[in-house]
Amino acid sequence: MAVSDSLSDDERKAAQMGAVPDFDFDTPLAAQLALDTRRSITLRDSTFARPVQTRVLTVANQKGGVGKTTTTVNIAAAMARAGLHVLVIDNDPQGNASTALGVEHQAGTPSIYDVLIGEATFADIVQASPFSENLLCAPATIDLSGAEIELVSIDSRETRLRLALRRYLVDRGHSGEARLDYVLIDCPPSLGLLTVNAFAAAGEVLIPIQCEYYALEGLSQLLRNIELIQGHLNPSLAVSTILLTMSDTRTNLAREVAQEVRNHFPEQTLRTVIPRSIRISEAPSYGQSVIEYDPTSSGALAYAEAAREIAVRGAESTNTEGASA
Ligand code: ATP
Ligand code: MG
Repeated sequence: MAVSDSLSDDERKAAQMGAVPDFDFDTPLAAQLALDTRRSITLRDSTFARPVQTRVLTVANQKGGVGKTTTTVNIAAAMARAGLHVLVIDNDPQGNASTALGVEHQAGTPSIYDVLIGEATFADIVQASPFSENLLCAPATIDLSGAEIELVSIDSRETRLRLALRRYLVDRGHSGEARLDYVLIDCPPSLGLLTVNAFAAAGEVLIPIQCEYYALEGLSQLLRNIELIQGHLNPSLAVSTILLTMSDTRTNLAREVAQEVRNHFPEQTLRTVIPRSIRISEAPSYGQSVIEYDPTSSGALAYAEAAREIAVRGAESTNTEGASA
């Protein structure tokens, strides 16, 4: 028997890790290569621990284009790939998360709109992603664009998503379907009723922050709104996770912004930073997350690492309120 055959998987990974050269920030390409190699060793064949109860995370930032949808679908896809059962709720009329997960969402498709107005249940609208049975999506269609206005005159307009999601999680348990480990809710770039519903339904908020000059602008307004939700609708809601996105690691600005965010939110900010990557931006046009589209790319490895961090933190302390089952 060869020596390497007698090693445990962890020992083999540690030995391989030791052989990867140290970072050299003078040559960003070499540093990226070393980082990618380490990540692929750590992540190879790894399964993520299941949380004690379903964790519901709302991915929100009222700023447009900061990576909310990209983060939602790629964290979800990485978790599903690592063996977890995940539901993505596309709560944005743009329907970008539905597109990126390759699920049907043309006008007329049963969607989250029907759930919000009480004409369907989650069980009626949820579709499995074509790439993984573990990865479900409640799609959004263009119908959702009228929901902000329609909801205003409907009873319990702020908690309709929470009630429907709770019922779905309980019903899955009764019907013997696998318990969902994570529910990720993708929000539109606004703080209207759709986002309020998402905050009311969740135990945690994940805020993606783009590594750019105005990164923290608008954040205090977002946090104030979350405090209002905590005060009135969902006392246990916690901003558990902040993810730095679209970082151009070669620039000082990206590093400075990252440091500033970490100074403000030392506990919440994930160690993993998502790099700006062409592969990440190309993937949605193929109806795929980058995890499927190019699993060995820097962007896919970074999202898989971020997903692992979220899962590990969740195993340590889990806020299971909101709509958890
Ligand atoms: P909106 O506020 O409109 O919902 P968003 O916050 O959901 O936007 P995304 O749609 O995820 O943001 O990203 C905005 C654009 O940036 C998209 O074209 C996406 O493909 C691209 N993008 C996101 N993350 C990255 C990245 N790490 N590298 C390169 N491009 C990215
Ligand atoms: Mg989006």
